[in-house]
Amino acid sequence: MTRVLVVEDESAIAELISINLRHAGYEVTIAATADQAQAAVDAVLPDLVLLDWMLPGQSGLALAKQWRSSARTRELPVIMLTARSEEGDKISGLDAGADDYLTKPFSTKELLARIRAVLRRKAPEALDTAVEIAGLRLDPATRRVTRTTAEGVREVKVGPTEFRLLHFFMTHPERVHSRAQLLDRVWGDHVFIEERTVDVHVKRLREALQPVQGAGLIETVRGAGYRLTQQVGTLAT
Ligand code: CA
Repeated sequence: MTRVLVVEDESAIAELISINLRHAGYEVTIAATADQAQAAVDAVLPDLVLLDWMLPGQSGLALAKQWRSSARTRELPVIMLTARSEEGDKISGLDAGADDYLTKPFSTKELLARIRAVLRRKAPEALDTAVEIAGLRLDPATRRVTRTTAEGVREVKVGPTEFRLLHFFMTHPERVHSRAQLLDRVWGDHVFIEERTVDVHVKRLREALQPVQGAGLIETVRGAGYRLTQQVGTLAT
């Protein structure tokens, strides 16, 4: 489930946004201050943040800048919410590292459209669009994985965690992901789960892909992590 953190000090607005997002199938956490937002992100990395500009204490703008300067949150998708509609403010919001900018009041329809657009660009694993690589097809809507081989289309049986892991690999192919990054992006937690957990689930995923000759798609990059690649054997495994 796609995790959205709503950072908004006006509780009526925060509540309204979260009701609408939950209704659309998102898992929502609310934070009323920059400190609460930072604590929420430290605990579980969300897939996207709706960040109000005007907060008591540290501003949303300063928080966005802070996130962009930290390795763990550099890629975190952020949509700034603001009552300001000045062009200059919009530019400083985007300069601070926001991926998009919404001026209050906005419609739920617009909010949902912007969220999907930002996720498509920055966290496609959070959407339910089917992905296909090297004959391997994963469909989040039906939760099915298949591979087309010389013998035809064959079903791949994977557990829920391996499914999410494969989904993440397939939406970010040819890139090496460290165990800590995988814990953050697939489990949402790099603090309370051991990095060895990643190895266990990668092993299970390879075993699940073995019957369709797909185990080699998931490559171990020594000292760095894992990646999904079609260029088998280009790096030491
Ligand atoms: Ca506010």
